[in-house]
Amino acid sequence: MKAPSFQYHRAASVQHGLELIREFAGTGKFMSGGQTLMPMMNLRLAAAEHLIDVGALPELRETREAGRRAFVGGGVTHAMVEDGKVRDPARGLLAHVAAGIAYRSVRNRGTMGGSLAHADPAADWPCALRALDAVVVIRGADGERELPLADFQRGLMETALGEDELLVGVLLPELSPKARWAYRKFCHKVGEFAHSICAVVHDPELRFANVVLGAAADKPVRLANLCDYLAQGMTAGAVGGAQYAGALRKDLTEAAGLDPTTYDYQLHQTIVTRSLAEALQK
Ligand SMILES: Cc1cc2nc3c(=O)[nH]c(=O)nc-3n(C[C@H](O)[C@H](O)[C@H](O)COP(=O)(O)OP(=O)(O)OC[C@H]3O[C@@H](n4cnc5c(N)ncnc54)[C@H](O)[C@@H]3O)c2cc1C
Repeated sequence: MKAPSFQYHRAASVQHGLELIREFAGTGKFMSGGQTLMPMMNLRLAAAEHLIDVGALPELRETREAGRRAFVGGGVTHAMVEDGKVRDPARGLLAHVAAGIAYRSVRNRGTMGGSLAHADPAADWPCALRALDAVVVIRGADGERELPLADFQRGLMETALGEDELLVGVLLPELSPKARWAYRKFCHKVGEFAHSICAVVHDPELRFANVVLGAAADKPVRLANLCDYLAQGMTAGAVGGAQYAGALRKDLTEAAGLDPTTYDYQLHQTIVTRSLAEALQK
C-alpha cells in the first residue's frame, strides 16, 4: 500500500516550520527521519495533507552544555549518537542504546525527537531517557516550555505535544564518575522492537536511582520500590534475596500491572533482574 497523496515542505528553520504547521491548521505533520511516519502513512494508520520536513535542520542537530545539564537536539539521529558525534553526558549509555535500535539504515535517518514524539511504549529512547530523568524542550507559537519526560508521555503513542508544537530537544543530566548504568532489551530477532526493556541508572552523587521498564505497559514504567531499594544501597548480592523479590513483585504487579502467572511477567522479571545485577556489578 502507498500513502495517500500529500504535499512535502522542507522547513528552512524551526521558526519557518512552526509557521507552516500553523498555516496548515490541523492538516500538517512534522517529519524528522520519516522512519515511523512514512510506514504508518503507507499502512494508512496516519494521515496528513502536508508534511513539514524538519529532519536536517542544523538547529535541531545542536548539542550543547546547558548549565549542569546537556542539551541534545531533537533532530539528532540514532546513528550520530552511536558514532559518538554527540557528546554523551550519560557516560556511554546513549551510544549503547542508539546502537541497539533497529538496523543501521533506520538509525541513519531516525531521530531522538521523532522517537519521543511518536511515544511507542516499546521504543528505546522513551525508556532510556526516562531513566535519566530527561526533560523535553518544546517550542510553539507561545514560545518554549520544558516538561519532564515522565509527564510528556501520557500513554500509548500519546504525548503532551500540541498539534502545532515541535519537540526541539531534550535536557539530560551530566552523570558523575560514580554513576553506573545498565540497559538490556529482549527481542526475538535483532532490529525488531523489544518485548522487554530495562534501563537502570544510579548516580549516588546526583542522588538519583531509576529502574525503568519498557514494553510492558502503555508507556515506560518507573519501578519505584526497586528505585528506593537501589537508592538505599542495594548491593549485587541482594539481587534474588527476599527483599529484592518482594520489591520486584510489587512493582511488576502494581506499577506495570503484570500477572505473575504469565510468560510476560517471567520475561520482564528476568530482564529487570539481569539489568540490576549488571549495573550493581559496575
Ligand atoms: C524496521 C524498523 C525497526 C525499528 N526498530 C526500532 C527499535 O528497535 N527501537 C526503537 O526505539 N525504534 C525503532 N524503530 C523506530 C525508529 O527508531 C524511528 O526512527 C523513530 O521511532 C521515529 O523517529 P523519526 O525521526 O523517523 O520520526 P518520524 O517518523 O519522522 O516521526 C514520527 C512521529 O513523530 C512526529 N515528530 C517527528 N519529529 C518531531 C518533532 N521534532 N517534534 C514533534 N513531532 C515530531 C511526527 O509527526 C510523527 O508523528 C524502528 C523503525 C523501523 C522502520
